[in-house]
Amino acid sequence: MTVAPEQAAESSTHKPVHTRALIIGTGFSGLGMAIELQRRGVEFVILEKAAEIGGTWRDNTYPGCACDIPSHMYSFSFEPKPDWQHMWSFQPEIFDYLKGVTDKYGLRRYIQFNSHVDRAHWDDDELRWHVFTKDGHEFVAQFVVSGVGGLHIPLIPEFDGLDEYRDAGGAAFHSAQWDHSVDLSGKRVAVIGTGASAIQIVPEIVNDVGALQLYQRTPAWVMPRPNNPIPEWMRDMFTNVPGTRELMRWGIYWIHEAVGFAMTRQPRLLKIGELLGKWNIRRSVKDRELRRKLIPHYRAGCKRILNSDTYYQGIANPKTEVVTDGIARFTARGIVTADGTEREADVVVFATGFHVTDSYTYVDIKGPGGEDLVDRWTREGVSALRGITIADMPNLFFLLGPNTALGHNSVVFMIESQIRYAAQAIAAVDRAGAQALAPTRAAADSYNEELQGELAGTVWNTGGCRSWYLDEHGVNRTLWSGMTWQYWMATRKFRASEYKFFGPGRDTPTQDVAVTTLVAPQG
Ligand SMILES: Cc1cc2nc3c(=O)[nH]c(=O)nc-3n(C[C@H](O)[C@H](O)[C@H](O)COP(=O)(O)OP(=O)(O)OC[C@H]3O[C@@H](n4cnc5c(N)ncnc54)[C@H](O)[C@@H]3O)c2cc1C
Repeated sequence: MTVAPEQAAESSTHKPVHTRALIIGTGFSGLGMAIELQRRGVEFVILEKAAEIGGTWRDNTYPGCACDIPSHMYSFSFEPKPDWQHMWSFQPEIFDYLKGVTDKYGLRRYIQFNSHVDRAHWDDDELRWHVFTKDGHEFVAQFVVSGVGGLHIPLIPEFDGLDEYRDAGGAAFHSAQWDHSVDLSGKRVAVIGTGASAIQIVPEIVNDVGALQLYQRTPAWVMPRPNNPIPEWMRDMFTNVPGTRELMRWGIYWIHEAVGFAMTRQPRLLKIGELLGKWNIRRSVKDRELRRKLIPHYRAGCKRILNSDTYYQGIANPKTEVVTDGIARFTARGIVTADGTEREADVVVFATGFHVTDSYTYVDIKGPGGEDLVDRWTREGVSALRGITIADMPNLFFLLGPNTALGHNSVVFMIESQIRYAAQAIAAVDRAGAQALAPTRAAADSYNEELQGELAGTVWNTGGCRSWYLDEHGVNRTLWSGMTWQYWMATRKFRASEYKFFGPGRDTPTQDVAVTTLVAPQG
């Protein structure tokens, strides 16, 4: 295969590291995959662009950051934690949980930190992936598993004048890159966005700040959520009384699946949730005009349903102003809205979400014959077989890949299904005495046709909103189309008939197969 000159230069400065499986990322996905491969005795290396594990739960340290699916469900099924302090845990506890899992399984010695993967190509002769980090290190692997996550590249809309605002000394940062050196006490703070992060931030900071402007484009449906600490007796019970924690997890699972049923099969049922959401507004917000601004005009569930017992109280605080006019531009002093009003702000928080539908463009992947995956996905739309493997892209697995995120339950459940599936696929290659497998075009296409057909009737496609679940053509490339147990069924068994296998038998190893070089143990 032809090697570009800059690639050759990079390759010559560092000795390539050879491994059987290369995992990218150390969030729930990457860590879970590593544990499964370790259990199965498959050699692997993990590359992580940051200096610590944790993904979402390392990066998001904003005030009030918490999960929105109860922790007894939003955690690994094989690593339960009976003593979660809250039903919806706050970031520090989830981050600690992931660090605890990492250490328990001794995963740090497989992780190379500060290693940002920016490209990979498949070598048709060697039947191996060559993966490169931004700093020029090369890794050669039979299998690549991407656990890069869907919500980790902060999205800050391009606003005119933002540089001018910053140059004049205004602080401005994204919720996932919270600048803890900025003291908000007494300051005029602008929060832009009213999604999942904003509704957690607003009530946490409103008492400290001097004034809070909340820039709302579309209101969210926000359901009540009493998140008091779980009493000690209950934590003791989950720890000591067999079956009680499992019962709690089971209950949480099925309540969320019921919501999933409404979202995917009977969106009309979500009107019940709307009544609850309206009651949540009424009980905290007395001002009629303000209430009117807060009521969404789309079916609940079309955008992510949020939960909070404190958000509307934060909004009702006299220090808060809800601004619904669009932002026209920034100035040296603050923000000008479409109606020409300028509001001065000392600090701006972008709670504006993440690059989701275009996140695939951040790693340059070239498959057999040099086919560019980013080009293919840009042309055809992002899709995968069962959200995990890509037609004609050998030995490449995506965790939380296309159409496997959720609007109603814990994605860790999905990740675990995908981990099992990928591990089964790796075992199938070995069993077949082959070197590689890739789904056939026909299998991938017919799977995705059916999936898009099922999505057509869901609340995400019919609910009257424009959400980050949809790509620029209005096609849902993000969410799974049904309930999570259906996904579990769809991935429970690896179907070899959907794949083609190729390469010489495993008894004819290529040059690197037997090389056992691992990243030097760290920590
Ligand atoms: C504030 C917040 C709250 C959330 N709450 C919930 C919830 O309650 N329930 C739920 O189901 N989901 C929730 N999510 C979604 C959440 O992202 C997933 O649940 C889960 O954490 C994803 O895990 P992951 O390992 O796939 O990705 P991530 O946690 O994003 O981890 C990806 C890792 O890959 C690394 N990485 C990325 N690109 C590269 C590269 N090119 N090279 C090397 N390393 C790379 C990143 O640094 C990161 O460590 C939430 C998301 C956010 C932002």
